[in-house]
Amino acid sequence: MTALRENFPAAPAPSADDSTLLEVEGLTVSYANDDGAAACVAVDDVSLSLRRGEVLGVVGESGCGKSTLAMALPRLLPEPPAVVRARSIRICGEEVAGASRDRLRGLRGSRVGVVFQEPMTALSPLHRVGAQIEEAAALHRRMGRAALRDLAVDWLGRVGIADPARAALAFPHELSGGMQQRVMIAMALVNDPDLVIADEPTTALDVTTQAQVLALMRRLVGARSGLLLITHDMGVVRAMATRVAVMYAGRIVETAPCPDLFARPAHPYTRALLAAMPSLATRGRRLPVIEGFVPTPAECAAMAGCRFRPRCPHRAACGGDDAPRAFAGATGQRTCRCERAPRDGGGKETA
Ligand code: ADP
Repeated sequence: MTALRENFPAAPAPSADDSTLLEVEGLTVSYANDDGAAACVAVDDVSLSLRRGEVLGVVGESGCGKSTLAMALPRLLPEPPAVVRARSIRICGEEVAGASRDRLRGLRGSRVGVVFQEPMTALSPLHRVGAQIEEAAALHRRMGRAALRDLAVDWLGRVGIADPARAALAFPHELSGGMQQRVMIAMALVNDPDLVIADEPTTALDVTTQAQVLALMRRLVGARSGLLLITHDMGVVRAMATRVAVMYAGRIVETAPCPDLFARPAHPYTRALLAAMPSLATRGRRLPVIEGFVPTPAECAAMAGCRFRPRCPHRAACGGDDAPRAFAGATGQRTCRCERAPRDGGGKETA
């Protein structure tokens, strides 16, 4: 992760247009049993927002509900088995919580671009990559064939593929993992979306390619759009995010501007994630692991109060009240679901 940090020493410059791109209130996603009954709640009453120019990193261990959250927003989860409920999901000011399939299809690809974890599952193995980018563009633009072809080649160049005209004629399996991920990014961005959702976009890549692909996403998304970045990796968060939402067992347990989160983590789970993060200083030393496991949604249903309590080092001295608390951090507003949360995070408590 050191390589990543060195590649991204500075936070992105703030955008002049900081309009809200995504506003989610009370999103709950459950998965149904074979008999159709809602069996488990994977995302539990989550609210969040994202402004233009921001990179919101959603971080947590495997099984916390990050992918479910990311895929529920553009309604890409198969329903059933997923059951998506929300008081409100506004994308670029438009309410999509009850929107029709057609409206959602129109929104995806034009105002919302999605970069998936595994390019090989998202790209068609049967079609040349240039044609796949052309198709993504043709769904939302009125352009002739030649112009679409030029656009696809232009985007392959913009995502850093050498000899893009030749690469456009390749099939996905003829490209390396890093190149496939670049193609996916080109497909997600070809219609200049306002909001980009990326679910673990670099997990399958080696460290060097990972740094290159993240730098590319940061450069291309930049101040023009907003990026919701799902990751289990605190190093990626530190390298990329302007704001962070820490997710545990289906809930967001802490939100903070990225510098505040790393300087003064408020939730014991965030502190545990940071302690387990490798760095040059910890090289050769055994890192502390977080004992135990993320509770399953079924286990969560039987828990009252804080879901991290069974793993928390402070459990003996804590009543487990996890009502969200808001307070001002050194560089922006923060929230934390822990009764032992600091009353100030560099600023003053606000609620
Ligand atoms: P993460 O992305 O943080 O690893 P997921 O969103 O994949 O977490 O999973 C959250 C929870 O939802 C997990 O307990 C997982 O087992 C459950 N889950 C995910 N997909 C399904 C599904 N299709 N059916 C039932 N449960 C699921």
